Amino acid sequence: VTTQVIRSIAELRKALASVRETMRTIGLVPTMGALHAGHAKLIETAQREADCVVTSIFVNPIQFNRNEDYDRYPRDLSNDVEFCTVRGVDLIFAPPADEMYPEPQRAFVDVEALSDHLCGEFRPGHFRGVATVVLKLLNIVQPSRAYFGEKDAQQLAVIRRMVKDLNIPVAIVEVPTVRETDGFALSSRNQQLNAEERRIAPALNQALRRAEKLISAGVRGAEEIKSSALAILQRYPEIRVEYLEIVDPESMQPVEAIAGPVRVMMAAWIGKTRLIDNVLCRQPVQAANS
Ligand code: AMP
Repeated sequence: VTTQVIRSIAELRKALASVRETMRTIGLVPTMGALHAGHAKLIETAQREADCVVTSIFVNPIQFNRNEDYDRYPRDLSNDVEFCTVRGVDLIFAPPADEMYPEPQRAFVDVEALSDHLCGEFRPGHFRGVATVVLKLLNIVQPSRAYFGEKDAQQLAVIRRMVKDLNIPVAIVEVPTVRETDGFALSSRNQQLNAEERRIAPALNQALRRAEKLISAGVRGAEEIKSSALAILQRYPEIRVEYLEIVDPESMQPVEAIAGPVRVMMAAWIGKTRLIDNVLCRQPVQAANS
């Protein structure tokens, strides 16, 4: 049997009503498709914790701005259906754009401050589009749990804050980043890289790990840490760094001095492909008293 693919909101609600009747819990894994092992990890986590797993596959137009890559974003529904079938996903919700947006959307969710920096600065309107579509999906599916990857840490922080501030009755579950053996974080966009671009891509994670190492060695100055990490990337003329920033993991505000847990966040272009990655650095070891 293949996983059931549902394209309409009404049909999905009907299918989920009978799931709820038998008191079974629902887990939602929102994705934009072109599924890979990172998504599989979200699905497996959901399957351990929920009776019925819904994977949504929707490339959300309102989170891309005009000069971005909405058209270029990889789409492969038949592969994704196979991917979900093999893994025993219960339902795929893959609505066409006009099912989610039958008219121009007039209501939006803005999560202030958390969306100001990092990707929010370079992709104006992006998190407004993300928060809005995630709220729509939560309202459509009404899951008890929803699963998100640490790879998109700012997105996760924005969603957590939306859920808290708007009292949405769902538990948000964070899933660690799945990486290739060379440290390169899995992403649907990775398939856009040519062989040469793929070869240098591990430098992104190496730069983050350099920052992590300095922080755990007790270095406190963000500027010093950032320039040391950037030095790794500057060896490659093909890599154009958009930002490399050290932020508070919850508020997503840049810090100047490390005084607690921080997340080192980066976005960089390799050729025509924009990639992001981040690492969490927990409380640095207290410098020994001399
Ligand atoms: P996307 O399809 O890229 O929008 O991602 C859908 C979900 O999968 C998001 O919650 C992402 O954070 C998560 N995700 C994407 N890549 C990875 C990865 N390499 N490891 C873990 N989760 C991921």
